[in-house]
Amino acid sequence: MNLYENIQRIKEMMGILIESVKDVESILSSGSKGSEVEIIQDILGIYKDGKFGPQTKKCVQEFQNKVSIKDDGIVGDETKTKLKKLEDNEIEWETPEFCKTLENFKSYNSDSDSKTDEYDPSKKSEGKKLPPNIQKLIDKLKKDYGVIITQSHIDKEYAQEGDIRPDAGGVNSDAEKQIKKLISDCKKEFPDVRFPNGIVSGYRSYDKQVDNFGTKVKNNKRSIEDVQASNCLPGFSQHHTGKAFDIFSTDTSWWKKNSIVKNWVANNCKKYGFEVTYKTKGVLRIAEPWHLYYYK
Ligand SMILES: [Zn+2]
Repeated sequence: MNLYENIQRIKEMMGILIESVKDVESILSSGSKGSEVEIIQDILGIYKDGKFGPQTKKCVQEFQNKVSIKDDGIVGDETKTKLKKLEDNEIEWETPEFCKTLENFKSYNSDSDSKTDEYDPSKKSEGKKLPPNIQKLIDKLKKDYGVIITQSHIDKEYAQEGDIRPDAGGVNSDAEKQIKKLISDCKKEFPDVRFPNGIVSGYRSYDKQVDNFGTKVKNNKRSIEDVQASNCLPGFSQHHTGKAFDIFSTDTSWWKKNSIVKNWVANNCKKYGFEVTYKTKGVLRIAEPWHLYYYK
């Protein structure tokens, strides 16, 4: 127990209540414990356990970023001054999603603070780290769009997709030829159906997916979970490979209405070298009868 914790314990023993950040005398940082930490957690609106763990640190850093002071994750005088303003409602602050609930708190805290783990594609356990090039995309989502992806989001993405995928840099020409053939044959098969599109979406670069995902959360004010239901985190999408296509429509109701098309695509895509990736609802994704992957 360090000096600050001793002082705090004495204060607690003497019945001196710590009710506001102005009563917080210690400099708080990783490893600090007790009611002073609880006060900070309370003000920031994060799950309150009185322990200054990696999740609390990350949230403090978010706050420091927000109020434009050095984001060292240490609660010293400058940070306390700003926290006092937050306490007095003089600063606007929205608690990041990752630290609001016990569930998120646990999943974040169980994840080690170090970033030294090597990427191993055969390791598919929870808490799997992203390779550095993909982590960069996740960092960009945060920096450019304020979208904070937690380990729990990443775990689910691994569970749904299996692994990250390479950015092929463009569409695969064989796959493109085959999808056009499939679309043309399908349209001939059902001359009475009104098809709103041919290919809705094909190759997507890593950067495009960052933009795609970030915009949906930021501009459309949707939750990360909601966007993840039909969009991969950057790095995971089959569209990166240039071998995946969304065809006709990405509107579930169109496919319901045109179930004959849905069945035809599901039953015939193999002949063209494709499979319907999301036949049924998965860990994250909804069923997507429109999303075809060229497996050849
Ligand atoms: Zn798709």
